[in-house]
Amino acid sequence: MEFWVHVIDTVLIFIILGLSLNLVLGFSGLASMAHAAFFGLGAYAAALLSSGLGWPFPLNLAAAILVTAAVAAIVALPALRVRGEYVILLTLALQMFAYGLMLSWVELTGGRTGLPGIPRPVIFGWKLVTPPDFLPLLLVAAVVTFLICRRIADSPYGRVLKALREDEAATVALGKNVLAVRVSLFAVSGGLAGAAGGLFAHYYAFINPFSFSLDQSIFLIAVVTLGGTANLWGTTVGALLFVGVPELLRFLYLQQDIVAPVRNLIFGLLLVAFMRFRPQGIIPEYAGLERRSAGPKAEPAAVGELFRSAARNLAATGLSRRFGGIQAARQVDLELRPGEVVALVGPNGAGKTTIFNLLTGFLRPDAGRVYLDGEDITHLAPWQRARRGLVRTFQDVRVFQRMTVLDNVLVAVPNQAGENLLSLFFRPRRVAADEKIARALAFGYLEFVGLADRAGVLAESLSFGEQKLLALARALAVRPTVILLDEPASGIDPQWVGRMLDLIRRLRGAGCTVGLVEHNLEAVRAVADRAYFLEAGQVIASGHPEELIRDRRLAEIYFGV
Ligand code: ATP
Repeated sequence: MEFWVHVIDTVLIFIILGLSLNLVLGFSGLASMAHAAFFGLGAYAAALLSSGLGWPFPLNLAAAILVTAAVAAIVALPALRVRGEYVILLTLALQMFAYGLMLSWVELTGGRTGLPGIPRPVIFGWKLVTPPDFLPLLLVAAVVTFLICRRIADSPYGRVLKALREDEAATVALGKNVLAVRVSLFAVSGGLAGAAGGLFAHYYAFINPFSFSLDQSIFLIAVVTLGGTANLWGTTVGALLFVGVPELLRFLYLQQDIVAPVRNLIFGLLLVAFMRFRPQGIIPEYAGLERRSAGPKAEPAAVGELFRSAARNLAATGLSRRFGGIQAARQVDLELRPGEVVALVGPNGAGKTTIFNLLTGFLRPDAGRVYLDGEDITHLAPWQRARRGLVRTFQDVRVFQRMTVLDNVLVAVPNQAGENLLSLFFRPRRVAADEKIARALAFGYLEFVGLADRAGVLAESLSFGEQKLLALARALAVRPTVILLDEPASGIDPQWVGRMLDLIRRLRGAGCTVGLVEHNLEAVRAVADRAYFLEAGQVIASGHPEELIRDRRLAEIYFGV
């Protein structure tokens, strides 16, 4: 009996650990190799404080959580500047460093021998010794962790995590502060892993570095991935299967020396079988999406509420940028006046997208300045410019493919209380009220572009033309005063071109200042009030689009005829 409860207890600790990793790996797409180190840090903190200083259990656990959260948040700082595989390398380095420290700082950690005799926890005068004693505590801890993770996963904050996972640049373009999100995410995830570590230390009353090795980190990644990333039930089932079953197998084999190899063999076979037959995990992220759809349909906000009334002026002076031997922008002066549609045209490679990148902060200029309504914004990061109302779309669309159409737009709505972790947990009413407003707005923007009936489907299932409309709705949800559209009418069916041009006219009507990069000259002729003609990074003409298109010299440059 006690053995069975022990198996359940172990599974519960790993559920907490797996859920903490899933936040980072599944929801925000960062492969952390350091979760065993966070687990270990929590375990050593709790062990040292209870053995060394005689702190009571609740205080130990709180300290384990705080210390690990703080370390994880610090780790996230450099992780902001690195991407993809570099996050793996960075967290791998931390994992190796922490493991090395556990092994070599013998005075503190006991080295290979570890720390025995960790005091048993006492809760309300009740001392926990046997596995059944621990069961209620671990069950409560796992349920609380699950609820915390679910609150995060289903929140506006969770949407930003997913958006970052899908496309970091597109998320920044919506005015999201990636640094704040990543640091708080690592703090929460690290804190939960620290809690699992604290519980683990008190449960076994003994720890040594071998429970916190790189193998453990890799094992955790396997549990989360096989269970189903970004699905909390997936992690729960994954822990049951991949922690519980091997623990049970330990019971079946009497020959102790064959236990480990047989367990590893079975585990390895399971891994291969899963990768072959169910790569998306046992319970994938969007299991049952068809049934859930996008939740209740909100009454769309009225068109008048969708746009800011004040249009803004965007100006640049002397913008220059060089890439190696190529001068992509050379002394560019331009101005977008309030309520105007202005196009940038020119042959391929003329520097149009580079200028958009310089205006929106995605590229730093070698020289020149950018002004929004007279304010110099050259030093601002892209997300800060987006928050001031300067918003862009991308040539390659960059919708968040594995998010629903509605979530793509919802995530862009600014000032949502639920994007702040503290508000999320301590001001639930404000969060719920904001969510209601955000949904109404999101449906309003979807209705505006004509995609409201697709709200519940994943963005990846839309056609390219529809994705361009979705990208427009998403950009509008940021409430731009100046919107820069990169090739909104290129590469799409004629039916979508008409709709897009109509929307651009309506945007101008609503008081938005619009900048366009567009190859489709018919489209430029149809909507633009003015145009700048670029060649080799320089503005060589500007004026009414009709005049520019008729100019034989420009036609020669453009078409090479
Ligand atoms: P297209 O119409 O084909 O999109 P464009 O007018 O938008 O072209 P840009 O994309 O701005 O032109 O490119 C201008 C020049 O700068 C090109 O020669 C391009 O190869 C170069 N360039 C742009 N971005 C970079 C970069 N990140 N690194 C190096 N070269 C770049």
